[in-house]
Amino acid sequence: MRATRAVIHLGNFRHNIREVREHLARVSRSTGTNPPVMCVSVKADAYGHGARELARVAVEEGVDQLAVATVDEALSLRHAGIRSPLVLYSLSMPEEADAVCDADLSPFVADHEYCDRLIEAAQRHDTIVAVHLKIDTGMGRIGCSPDEAPALARRIRDEPYLRLTGIATHFPVADGAERTFTEDQTQRFAMTVDRIRSAGVTDGLVHAANSGAILAYPESWFDLVRPGIMVYGYYPSHDQERTLDLRPVMELESRIVQLKTVEPGTSLSYGRTYVAQQRTVIGTVPIGYADGYNRLLSNRGNVLVYENGGSRVRRVPVAGRVCMDQIMLDLGPDAPTLKYDRVVLFGPDSRGPSGEEIADLIGTIPYEVTCAVAARVPRTYVDS
Ligand SMILES: *Cc1c(COP(=O)(O)O)cnc(C)c1O
Repeated sequence: MRATRAVIHLGNFRHNIREVREHLARVSRSTGTNPPVMCVSVKADAYGHGARELARVAVEEGVDQLAVATVDEALSLRHAGIRSPLVLYSLSMPEEADAVCDADLSPFVADHEYCDRLIEAAQRHDTIVAVHLKIDTGMGRIGCSPDEAPALARRIRDEPYLRLTGIATHFPVADGAERTFTEDQTQRFAMTVDRIRSAGVTDGLVHAANSGAILAYPESWFDLVRPGIMVYGYYPSHDQERTLDLRPVMELESRIVQLKTVEPGTSLSYGRTYVAQQRTVIGTVPIGYADGYNRLLSNRGNVLVYENGGSRVRRVPVAGRVCMDQIMLDLGPDAPTLKYDRVVLFGPDSRGPSGEEIADLIGTIPYEVTCAVAARVPRTYVDS
């Protein structure tokens, strides 16, 4: 196996799911409500961690439902033997309606035309498609308007080939410091659900909460919550109180494959943006931007080196530009580093960078850091 791989700590994934579940139970107890059902997001290959494996573990942990973004992602999970309800968060193309039936998916629906396509496919397959009515209360992405919702809900309820299994909305700023927008949205959504109920439609689990809302808006939990990033070990933003013990699941690691001592004035990598100021030891690591180690980390990123076979652990800087397949590290003048010593680019070890630290350095969010780890990087699963 190549030096570079993503070690997926399933123990941390299990821990995070339990941590979320305990949080839901604790708060629900205090408000005298039932804890909501959990629908864990495994879209984008489980945020880069490997959807088939993580879906299997989530099911083992008693997660009730799973969610994906594309029909292909759903088919892959079905082929892997996942039988749980699978919610489809994005809209598919009309040509994919047959596959939606094949995979027994529960898609978000937002208009009549999309319902027509699903009904035609359901008739061909002699099946019933369970759908979630998606209402846009402020995300501006997909969903019908609150005013359109009661009639659309009634139609779905009355169609023999459709079943209304959910009523949903989504929050753009539930992870932010400002609370009014999300509170207003929750209220508008609850009122819309009331109107649907008044129109005689009693079906469907009501749901809205992503990780941000799970952490900060219990009044938005309704019947089901939709955690994503938190089960992979990261908070959605810096603006939220860190009340849960979330542990990063992915550890991106590699090895030092060449060591050399360079003289002052020696330049490294493309563009010669790094010039040694002193005699120093340089280590080369076979990971680059094509593996998902962002090029903006050139001369900025830090990595954790387990030196001398791991007897000493130290942070060292990336020296020069990140190449497509390789980076260089400045290990300093007296480095005890050995060839093939392990290097961790980010992960759960608090001595080294987390995915969040990488995200902060390059102006993005932890979601993108784990999603960016390329398909060519093998995933190794450890369950302890
Ligand atoms: C991705 C997604 C989620 C999960 O969001 P996190 O911020 O990762 O918790 C929930 N709902 C919808 C509709 C999504 O697309």
